[in-house]
Amino acid sequence: MEKSIARLKDISRELQLLTHSIALLGWDQETYMPPAAAEERADQLSLLEGMLHEKATNPEIGELLAHAGADGENPGGNTSLPEEDGGLVRAMFRDFGRRIKLTKDLVMRMAKQTSIGQQIWAEARKRNEFSLFAPELEKILSLTLEKAECLGYSEHVYDALLDEYEPWMKTSAAEAVFSSLKPRLVKILDKIRGARQVDDSFLLKNYPREKQEAFGRAVISDLGWDVKRGRLDQSTHPFTTTLGKDDVRLTTRYNENFFKTGIFGIIHECGHGLYELGFSDSIKGTALADGTSLGIHESQSRMWENVIGRSMAFWEHYFPVLASCFPENLSGVTPERFYRAVNKVEPSFIRVEADEVTYSLHIILRFTLETRMVTGKIPVRDLPEAWNSLFQELLGIRPSSDFDGVLQDVHWSMGGIGYFPTYSLGNLYGAQFYRALKKTLPDAEKLIAGGDFKPLLSWLRENIHRHGRIYTADELCRKVTGESLNPDYFISYLEDKFSKVYEF
Ligand code: ZN
Repeated sequence: MEKSIARLKDISRELQLLTHSIALLGWDQETYMPPAAAEERADQLSLLEGMLHEKATNPEIGELLAHAGADGENPGGNTSLPEEDGGLVRAMFRDFGRRIKLTKDLVMRMAKQTSIGQQIWAEARKRNEFSLFAPELEKILSLTLEKAECLGYSEHVYDALLDEYEPWMKTSAAEAVFSSLKPRLVKILDKIRGARQVDDSFLLKNYPREKQEAFGRAVISDLGWDVKRGRLDQSTHPFTTTLGKDDVRLTTRYNENFFKTGIFGIIHECGHGLYELGFSDSIKGTALADGTSLGIHESQSRMWENVIGRSMAFWEHYFPVLASCFPENLSGVTPERFYRAVNKVEPSFIRVEADEVTYSLHIILRFTLETRMVTGKIPVRDLPEAWNSLFQELLGIRPSSDFDGVLQDVHWSMGGIGYFPTYSLGNLYGAQFYRALKKTLPDAEKLIAGGDFKPLLSWLRENIHRHGRIYTADELCRKVTGESLNPDYFISYLEDKFSKVYEF
């Protein structure tokens, strides 16, 4: 048995090396690659994905897992295994089990089509022309459905897709979360609509990119970001990707006339990066060295961005520094006014710039459209209209262009149908985790106001980061907070915060 585990670890490390090499090509594609390289890059990615698939479906893995006692009943293998080894067996059993259901041909076609799809999506968005992207999306949707049929599902075709990003979560469970969330978010939004709107005009002045970047770099260095183990660059769509156990890449974008985009984007991605750099040494480089679900990953980014980064304590500390960087924009503004401005709630078109109250309504829109799209209830060509109508229904405003509507997100072009719900789950997990953190660190706000983030990061490292995939999202949530995911904590966090910001 020991030999089988040792061999599984070796195989897992090789798979990680290849995965990270593929990620490097993907990172380059989104950051520095010249446009003319797009065609060959698609072939490179397709070839490497095919090689990874072959390696990851080697029958030897199945034999080793069986030898370790793993089967459908008992995916973690022999119960005598130490917790970490059992976790590795379970993670590899899951990955292998999903992989062998797919053919190499399908994996390669998907890699190529999504690489092309991303390039065309970017062009279509630039030209505000959905019809340019629609044929590519149709091909991606049909490949996605082919994949779902291979993976199999018992209740809903979307289960097979959601499970890739949020392992073991069913569409019905996501639906239950969203239907509990929606009326309560709308209620808070209605109260805010009835209150006096906050003034954020000073955030719309000119903030030169270089100065925003310097400020952002200083902030994440305080949060614990290690420049020896990562980089920060620019991309059209901000993301974080891991290229090695000591190499995590963050990207962001800046808007010189809207201060919030750059800084909160940087803090958000840094939250993802800190998770990726926080795995314990013993699991680094193996299948366990990954976020246990995207919802948990997003809890880390959103906790840093929103719960910490948009708190009064945070700006008590940073506002004086910021005001000295941009005196022409911020003289006469108090930390309190600044805090309210960065927490302004207002229905708006772009998800990544949405406030904490309306954000999940954007996700509910995507979840609704995706589940209808994969069941054939909405044809691709009708998506722009379906998007705009549902947007009007949920947020009370209607996008006037596809640039601000159906073309805003990169996900569908990457084949990421089933991904969006995890963003909203991240908000919920983040609020629930932060509540647990405050039980150990009741003076967390004082620490934040003093610019001392070390105790917070240590808590996250100890309770969440170091475990990687050893526990499932639900196991981790129960271990850290004593119960499964509960949307009540997010709602009470919002009510508490925004009743003060908006005095209702
Ligand atoms: Zn994120």
